[in-house]
Amino acid sequence: MEMLELKKALFEGGVVGAGGAGFPTYAKLSDQAETIILNCAECEPLIKVDRQLMTDYVDEILSGMQMLVDTMGANEGIIAIKKSYLSSIEAVKSSIENYKKLRLHILPDIYPAGDEVVLIYETTKKIVEQGKIPITVGCVVVNVETVLNVYKKVTKDENVTTKFVTVAGLVKNPITALVPIGITVKKLIDMAGGFLEEDFIVIMGGPMTGKICSVFDVVTKTTKAILVLPTSCPPVTKRQSTTKSNLKAAMSACSQCSMCTSLCPRNLLGASIKPHEFMRAIANGITYNVEPFMNTFYCVSCGLCEMYSCHQGLSPRRLLDEYKNGLRAKGVKPMQKPNGPVNRLREERKVPEHRLINRLGLAKFDVAAPLVTCETGMKEVKLLLRQSLGAPCKACVKVQDKVLKGQIIGMPEDGALGVCLHASISGTITTVNDNFIIIVSGDE
Ligand code: SF4
Ligand code: SF4
Repeated sequence: MEMLELKKALFEGGVVGAGGAGFPTYAKLSDQAETIILNCAECEPLIKVDRQLMTDYVDEILSGMQMLVDTMGANEGIIAIKKSYLSSIEAVKSSIENYKKLRLHILPDIYPAGDEVVLIYETTKKIVEQGKIPITVGCVVVNVETVLNVYKKVTKDENVTTKFVTVAGLVKNPITALVPIGITVKKLIDMAGGFLEEDFIVIMGGPMTGKICSVFDVVTKTTKAILVLPTSCPPVTKRQSTTKSNLKAAMSACSQCSMCTSLCPRNLLGASIKPHEFMRAIANGITYNVEPFMNTFYCVSCGLCEMYSCHQGLSPRRLLDEYKNGLRAKGVKPMQKPNGPVNRLREERKVPEHRLINRLGLAKFDVAAPLVTCETGMKEVKLLLRQSLGAPCKACVKVQDKVLKGQIIGMPEDGALGVCLHASISGTITTVNDNFIIIVSGDE
């Protein structure tokens, strides 16, 4: 398929990155690409989507990868899978010889193996310099479910109307469910057998970077997990702390041991982010040197410094995020600059995922979450007009319209970075406003 044709199909099909911020996939396609990397690292603990898709849909995913490699004229496609995903590795090994330009790369079981910059270094030894994007080193990184969606659009003309979501933690039967986009978190938790305890907090996304949500929030194109966690576990208590309390704690308890910097995955690859210097500057009001503050842009918010590295239980990540967001709101942009050398102790300083899971108090929740399909029988869906990065959609339906599953109901404005939005169930439109569209079906 020609590049322009594929871009058009992915725009119309509503394909965005299903594993992270949801960048529109068509905008990633480039004839500058030399290497396409499939991210099967499932970066965050407890999420079990990609490894299972890789076993159950291996040929569809490898075909989708081959299609992307061919269309972009890249030299190769790398299937990057964590060492412990044994059945995914087996599935890929049994099929990969049919795909001439694809090769398998086994990743270590570390956090954050799925961070694009870390992944590119692990698989190609190339460094994406600070403030730059992967294509500057000829790489494009794609998520497993995204590639499955590319394959479905190109071969079956299926638009994106469903999402795979792991539901885990304090639920009776952890699952990874294929559900229509727009169903509520409560519905997903019911599918997993309901809550095990009364006292819980729900996180949408992984324990390191996900956000606290309500049971009335809805699944979007980027929802990868719903985690029902005890209120006392670190991923919850850290999220409930305030900037004021984090700052006070930094002022009184930061020992400047620099462990947060020593284990920072971006610093280990030569980036200038040094969380301990930022903590010293912000805790003591040192403003004559702006570097620690400007370097906040080179933090990827992986959370390792606050959830794992800091022996004082401080929260460098939350303070870094607060500061970085403030700079962005004032229109400050990150500078592009070369990285320093890769730390020669990087191999020894990688954080094993199993240790992180123990530190987070989540080992008992790290259990199987088998794939189940729950696509039908949904009475109502609420589709957000902003599903991902880029421009939100504008509704192109009105109340009382009858729609069919897969029909376009929203589109970005002409020329804006975004993709089409489709009805995820057939039914009648009951609400349309600037933020969402509700569809009600006659089915139970
Ligand atoms: S690890 Fe904690 S105590 Fe040590 S420098 Fe970093 S923030 Fe301060
Ligand atoms: S969150 Fe902390 S460990 Fe992660 S990139 Fe930022 S400073 Fe480094």
